[in-house]
Amino acid sequence: MIYLDNAATTKTAPEVVEAMLPYFTEQYGNASSIYGLGSASKGAINHVRQIIADSIGAKREEIYFTAGGTEADNWAIKATAEAYAYKGKHIITTKIEHHAVLHTCEYLEKQGYEVTYLEVDEFGCVAPEAVKAAIRPDTILISIMYANNEIGTIEPIAEIGAIAKEKGVLFHTDAVQAFGQLPIDVEECHIDMLSASGHKLNGPKGIGFLYIRTGIKSRSFIHGGAQERSRRGGTENVPAIVGLGAATARAVRMMSEKTAKETELRDYLIKRLEEIPYCRLNGHPIKRLPNNVNVSFSFIEGESLLIMLDMKGICASSGSACTSGSLDPSHVLLAIGLKHEEAHGSLRLTLSEENTKEEIDVVVEAVKEIVQRLRDMSPLYEDFRY
Ligand SMILES: *Cc1c(COP(=O)(O)O)cnc(C)c1O
Repeated sequence: MIYLDNAATTKTAPEVVEAMLPYFTEQYGNASSIYGLGSASKGAINHVRQIIADSIGAKREEIYFTAGGTEADNWAIKATAEAYAYKGKHIITTKIEHHAVLHTCEYLEKQGYEVTYLEVDEFGCVAPEAVKAAIRPDTILISIMYANNEIGTIEPIAEIGAIAKEKGVLFHTDAVQAFGQLPIDVEECHIDMLSASGHKLNGPKGIGFLYIRTGIKSRSFIHGGAQERSRRGGTENVPAIVGLGAATARAVRMMSEKTAKETELRDYLIKRLEEIPYCRLNGHPIKRLPNNVNVSFSFIEGESLLIMLDMKGICASSGSACTSGSLDPSHVLLAIGLKHEEAHGSLRLTLSEENTKEEIDVVVEAVKEIVQRLRDMSPLYEDFRY
């Protein structure tokens, strides 16, 4: 099997599993308990909070654990919208956000909030001037992703953060794809809230965190016990939190080596895929995640390509895992200006540091052969050629 869907999820690293195991067996105490077994869990949780805080230039008490990226996005947006409704009800986001952000914003629109969905350019970049121009006296929140999960484009987060700060508007970023892949500094980028998820960086699924800058009003997101400074009740998922900590430490340790290796493989893969006629690269050629490749092939249907790749033991994606099963083309590809039929012919390949050049060659040959086979069956291609 060749796994090239690391934007959907990653393999839990062996050292992460190893770090988690004792918290299922011997160290099973409830972190809220007084006795030693409980305080060992509490200590482990606080240690992880420090590791994460250090990795983004935050303070330990600004890190709140969640059940993943989706929950962190929901929390950041809904709780802020509610806590700041007295100031205004306008939110700015983009057309290329993950559904965890887009569907939360759509929900808020039904609750009487107004949302501006900013356009992006052909590479998927948000213009900081467009963010500035969209700010109104009643704007309470800007939510713009750090890097896109489908096309890998890295957004000008520092510039957007500076504008948000200057205008006194809160700034949230969905950094689920960026955290662990890119160096992040919440001070330098003036980020007020940041979402991340364990399973995108070789950690366990169902755990993530939300960074909330000190001083920001945020209501309780999950009402219950006093966990997470009373903002998210519920007994802590200690093994998963420990796993997230181990995954973060591993990502920080390996970042430069991993980036160098993946970037080289990525650029080689792009170059080889471009040998196929009528292939276009989606996303920015340079400002892109080190592990992301997204291409469109004219005259083919991406779903068929994925099924045929699967038969050859290659795991790939057409865009977002959340979009599969629906026939709608990707909202991200439409936002960068692709026509419906082009968006349907897209392929996302996302690497890990474990992939090899030999694997890339196998994948390229498979894609070449399948694309040709699909085109030979395509009436569109026939019409185009004759
Ligand atoms: C995967 C992903 C999410 C959702 O995270 P989960 O932990 O799977 O809920 C949100 N945003 C982006 C950009 C993602 O890639």
